[in-house]
Amino acid sequence: MRRKGILIVVSGFSGAGKGTLVKRLVERYDNYALSVSATTRKPRPGEEDGREYFFLQREQFEQKIAENGLIEYACYCDNYYGTPRAYVERQLSEGMDVILEIEIQGALKIKEQYSDALLLFVMPPSAAELRRRLVGRGTESEEVIDKRMRRAAEEAQGIEAYEYIVVNDDLETCVGQLHEIILAAHNTPARNREFIENIRTELEGEK
Ligand code: ADP
Ligand code: 5GP
Repeated sequence: MRRKGILIVVSGFSGAGKGTLVKRLVERYDNYALSVSATTRKPRPGEEDGREYFFLQREQFEQKIAENGLIEYACYCDNYYGTPRAYVERQLSEGMDVILEIEIQGALKIKEQYSDALLLFVMPPSAAELRRRLVGRGTESEEVIDKRMRRAAEEAQGIEAYEYIVVNDDLETCVGQLHEIILAAHNTPARNREFIENIRTELEGEK
């Protein structure tokens, strides 16, 4: 049986460690493809165009929307973020599990279009640790950090839309847990409809 890829949505508060986690997941296992989003936000020091994001001007982003080049997009803290369509569709068709590190509005749009998508939410061990990580990352001003903490309080209201939460306390433990959840998700009946139907047909033939 050919392995079918699934779309894996990883959301979580800014600073929870999503980026660090998915980078480690892709390094440790070879069945994952990480989608690179487009955004209108400015690159942070050390970020490279085409690696962390495709950094676009607002007009370029709106052009992508008009061409149906994104499978979802959302506005987050005054910037656009969106998932390019071509890469995701190609990787899925090649049997890879495709990881989208996106926020909740996008996650819900993905679930509408791809009913097999697996929605995971990364939690920090505590709110104080979340603030410590945002401050420790050193990439945002105090004002932006406060804004992201307020946004986290709003996002916390939507967690029940996800299938699993994972707590990012010890990084390596969390990466292992993410991988196990994804492996288990591959074995649900809903994600194996074709295989189940084939067995049913074969069993009919054996009667
Ligand atoms: P996000 O992508 O969710 O905004 P990042 O991956 O940028 O978060 O992580 C935010 C900060 O927290 C970074 O400085 C990162 O090194 C740190 N971090 C990530 N995971 C852990 C962890 N398990 N323990 C301690 N610090 C962590
Ligand atoms: P950051 O600016 O910290 O890189 O990302 C801000 C938020 O945008 C994070 O919650 C991140 O998951 C989300 N995000 C990144 N790319 C996308 C995307 O393509 N679509 C959506 N909907 N959200 C995204």
